[in-house]
Amino acid sequence: MNFEAVIGLEIHMQLNSPTKMFCDCPNMPADPPNLNTCPTCLWLPGAIPVFSRNVLEKAVLLCLSLNCEIQHESVFDQKVYYYPDLPKGFQLSQFHKPLSKNGWLDIVTEEAETRRLRIQKIHMEEDVARLVHETENHKQISLVDFNRAGAPLVEIVTEPDMRSSYDAMEFLKALRRQIRYSGSSECSMEHGTMRVDANISIRPEGSGEFNTKVEVKNMNSIRNVGDAIDYEIARQKDSKEKGGEIVLHTRLWDPDNKITSPMRGKFSGPCIPDPAVSTIVITEDYVNEMKDRLPEMPDRKISRFIEQYGLTEQEASLISSELDLSLYFEDTVKKGASPRTVIHWLTSTMMSCIRKRGLSLSDSPVSAEDFAHLLGMLERNEITAKATKKVLSRMFDTDKTPEAIVKELDLKQVSDINELDALVEKLLSGNHDAVESLKKGNEKIMDFLVGQAMRESKGRANPRVIAEIIAGKIK
Ligand SMILES: [Zn+2]
Repeated sequence: MNFEAVIGLEIHMQLNSPTKMFCDCPNMPADPPNLNTCPTCLWLPGAIPVFSRNVLEKAVLLCLSLNCEIQHESVFDQKVYYYPDLPKGFQLSQFHKPLSKNGWLDIVTEEAETRRLRIQKIHMEEDVARLVHETENHKQISLVDFNRAGAPLVEIVTEPDMRSSYDAMEFLKALRRQIRYSGSSECSMEHGTMRVDANISIRPEGSGEFNTKVEVKNMNSIRNVGDAIDYEIARQKDSKEKGGEIVLHTRLWDPDNKITSPMRGKFSGPCIPDPAVSTIVITEDYVNEMKDRLPEMPDRKISRFIEQYGLTEQEASLISSELDLSLYFEDTVKKGASPRTVIHWLTSTMMSCIRKRGLSLSDSPVSAEDFAHLLGMLERNEITAKATKKVLSRMFDTDKTPEAIVKELDLKQVSDINELDALVEKLLSGNHDAVESLKKGNEKIMDFLVGQAMRESKGRANPRVIAEIIAGKIK
């Protein structure tokens, strides 16, 4: 029998709001342990949670970037369970009335078809504390860090519309790009600001039925999610073919051995309305205000770049993959550099300089204007590609303009015919054998002679002009 997979995802996204969800403590979970706490987020008895407006803004922007409908009333419930990372015994989450519903993202499938994948709902939730397990005096101890307690999360729940690991990975990449554009989250699986659980079941191909699913957790990259899904599909098929039954349970992905294994379940209790946090009422005006705050989103930007700058679909997607990359690209082009040259130099040399210094493009010390001036010199053949790299690297370490650095390092390409003519004359008179060989049609000698001229000029000669002069003299 042929089986097909039915996959849905649940994604926890940590919002990058300045404060936590129900108090004014800084939302900085990575700070030294228990630095950012107060009675509310230590969950002490009697402390009253007050929902933060800045968290709501981030959450709404995120929902809108995923084409979701914002609900005009949403409510917090208590998800009741006890665990050492949740000593108050319940987590504030939205179960009955979530913030947002009915979103979607389009992906291009492995068969090169555009498919719309639906998002069922997005709700807000407070994060729990972080448990740290250590050894002290040969004893196992567990510590609790409350910096993360009450940090703002949203949980994105998709419909089970995905049929392969490829679909799931494409969906996650599109989701991450949209949310980063919205400015609501860093969406880093590596740093734990994006956590993905996958629900996987299989059914006879085309049957339309929904069978018992297995939940897989603990993946720390999009690639891991794909691997875990592939492993789980194969495991379930194998089990079915042997006459086994699939049981509802949770499994953990083990990235080192590339397998999933069963996980002990946490006790999960009921969801009851929370009496302390009031209903969140969102007006149409507020939603419109948030819509206006979103930047031009990737789909629209890609079409515009193709139209306006004559880029290919691939180039436009590449340069729109991150908001700051697309902004820097367009700023540089507006300052006069040609789009293709900018794409090439921005995505290769510039990004490598940025990464080497542990920076991000938005805090690059090289302005788009200076970058455009540098590329302009290259395009006008005033400097070589090699010199361009050298100048760019130097631009990161000084405030000087590219023009000043070119002058200081004496990198201006020599295109002056008289000067180059004299250089070639001297070169040919000292290389009789090479000249004879070239006359007999040995083309490789041309590269050798141009190389000699470049060395003689310390890399400043224009190689194209040199080759032309040599060819003229040989005739
Ligand atoms: Zn607090």
